[in-house]
Amino acid sequence: MLNMFSLEGKVAIVTGCNTGLGQGMALALAKAGAKVVGVNRTNPVETAELIKEAGGEFLNVMADVSSSETPSRVLDETIITFGRVDVLVNNAGIIRRNDAIDFTEKDWDDVMDVNLKSVFFLSQAFAKQVIKQGSSGSIVNIASMLSYQGGIRVPSYTASKSGILGLTRLLANEWAKDGINVNAIAPGYMATNNTEALRNDESRSAEILGRIPAGRWGEPDDVAGPVVFLSSDASRYVNGYTLAVDGGWLAR
Ligand code: NAD
Repeated sequence: MLNMFSLEGKVAIVTGCNTGLGQGMALALAKAGAKVVGVNRTNPVETAELIKEAGGEFLNVMADVSSSETPSRVLDETIITFGRVDVLVNNAGIIRRNDAIDFTEKDWDDVMDVNLKSVFFLSQAFAKQVIKQGSSGSIVNIASMLSYQGGIRVPSYTASKSGILGLTRLLANEWAKDGINVNAIAPGYMATNNTEALRNDESRSAEILGRIPAGRWGEPDDVAGPVVFLSSDASRYVNGYTLAVDGGWLAR
């Protein structure tokens, strides 16, 4: 039974894995047997070390996901080094906070480019390669509670993450017939750089914590099991679904 969850022999790309949830997921995929390709703007020294310690193999492609030449370069370097690709985790993401009334075009475009546009074009390059290989594949997008809720002072983030939920469904509809499963994970409130400003704001932090049934902020390790499940044969008939990993936040 547990063999269904094994990623032995598979190659997984994870964007933005030098820290936070991306690091936790890259390590989890490596521990489940996958060779991991990171896509990062800075050298992910710690992630490389953790994967090595766990007995895994890791390649880093230094790239900005919002650049239009990144998808083809990531796929080329993956194939040159590991010869194939099976899993894509679209994790890289940024957030900008300001009142909607003052929100700038730059803060809109920067967030949409990293959080949504790059996800589409990297997924497209990945799907072309998987179809060429004649194999199956899994895409796991990283959504958010703001794929379901409006949020406050984060207009482009909410738009991008709501877009991820829809794009996950659209790509699943088109590519399920090609053996490519497209799903998403919607993390709740997790203790990473992304939420540092929120956690430093005493009243917002207490408000958030008070509504999480699990009674704690999530940790990168909490997405380990879900990402391995959605990358493995264990989820082969799961298509276009966004799985909340939120300590019960949405159930309130
Ligand atoms: P984080 O800031 O620690 O990680 C973000 C990662 O994306 C980093 O590795 C960063 O270097 C990378 N990145 C950003 N822009 C990039 C670019 N242009 N090119 C390449 N890499 C880039 O925060 P995190 O919480 O680990 O965020 C990971 C994902 O999870 C994001 O998509 C985020 O929106 C999402 N998320 C986080 C939470 C949370 O509570 N922390 C909740 C829901 C969703």
